[in-house]
Amino acid sequence: MLSGIEGGELGSDRIMKAQHLDLLLDILAQPTAPFREEHVIATVSRVLEQARVPFFTDPLGNLVVGAASQSEYLRLVREKSTEPLRVFIAHMDHPGFHGVEWLAPRRLKVQWHGGAPVKHLTGASVWLADSHGWTGSGTLARVKLTASKRTIDTAEVRIDAQGRAIAKGAARGRMPEAADAPLDLPASTLYGGFRFRAPVWRSGKKLYTKAADDLVGVFAIVATALALFGKRRAARPPPFLGLLTRAEEVGFIGAIGHFDLGWLAQSQGRRPVVCVSLEASRTLPGAIVGKGPVVRLGDRRTVFNPGALKVLADVAEQVLPGTHQRRIMDGGTCEATAATAYGFPSIGISVPLGNYHNQGFEGGPDCKRRDGPAPEFVHLDDIAGELELCRALMKTGLPWDDPWKKQRQLLQKNLRHYRKLL
Ligand SMILES: [Zn+2]
Repeated sequence: MLSGIEGGELGSDRIMKAQHLDLLLDILAQPTAPFREEHVIATVSRVLEQARVPFFTDPLGNLVVGAASQSEYLRLVREKSTEPLRVFIAHMDHPGFHGVEWLAPRRLKVQWHGGAPVKHLTGASVWLADSHGWTGSGTLARVKLTASKRTIDTAEVRIDAQGRAIAKGAARGRMPEAADAPLDLPASTLYGGFRFRAPVWRSGKKLYTKAADDLVGVFAIVATALALFGKRRAARPPPFLGLLTRAEEVGFIGAIGHFDLGWLAQSQGRRPVVCVSLEASRTLPGAIVGKGPVVRLGDRRTVFNPGALKVLADVAEQVLPGTHQRRIMDGGTCEATAATAYGFPSIGISVPLGNYHNQGFEGGPDCKRRDGPAPEFVHLDDIAGELELCRALMKTGLPWDDPWKKQRQLLQKNLRHYRKLL
């Protein structure tokens, strides 16, 4: 029930309002896996519709926020403007499994997609869902790792007896009270991931959940869109697009498919574009949970665009002095790398993430053994800070076209000062 969450006391310090928290919890409570983002899509679509924020689905099934159709998207992209189009990107999936075949009445063979813990897996609890919602729970058996031994390849899920586990989940979280056992359903319609006491719960200012990566980023984009479109509709749409992608965890599939459409490239010669990847990224020294959002200087593959990063870093200094962090988050790659590969200047903002990809690196509640399955966790202040950064990046008149001007003037002052000694 997520009891103990009183919106009023939250966000006193920052802009995490009660309705923001409700939205965040609602998104975090949805089942999701690579290629099975349907419940996140449904939740987000409902919220956007209610707020009359324009959005549509691209041919890959990604949600595009901030334009109602392909033609509106292209109009925004082709607009002659010096204001860059900000394309915020987050992914709606999280590592998980797909059902492959029934081996016996209660034994489901599954294929894993994306990262995972590789220790203490036998007997680990998992949830199951299909297109209608939660369908049951089970435990992992006969786990086979990939050749690299870095993640799970296949496993068997032993389905729990009907009712027991679900009822327990329903009492603590948002799983429906009466779920059907999945036994009669075709194997390929089922998917799942690691299961904990509830899909999401709060402890102090920390949120524990089956999947913060990257549903927190999805939330940040939706909240930013609500803020931008919430007021009276301006004559011109804001220079904003949100791209909520599918199947990032197996290699940016939705994002690559979107860039490959060539729509965004039609901005060339008309207006600049800057892609902003929003991620929940593995906590690292200098990127600590609770110390603020991270100005992400790069990922495991590459550093990001220095000019656009300078704008982001200056904005962060202004709106979050002393309460943000900055570093290369090389615990993983992100969609900014995909955007960079397609030639778009890209930057990133990360929310530090505990127990990345459900690997119990940091341990804590519901992590039975170190490095074994564990709920991911994030800090509400970091998320509130991320929202502030997103909003601040949407301000008009930021020095995108010459981000280093002030720095250059300082350098020139130095030159003038020392010239006489040359
Ligand atoms: Zn991830």
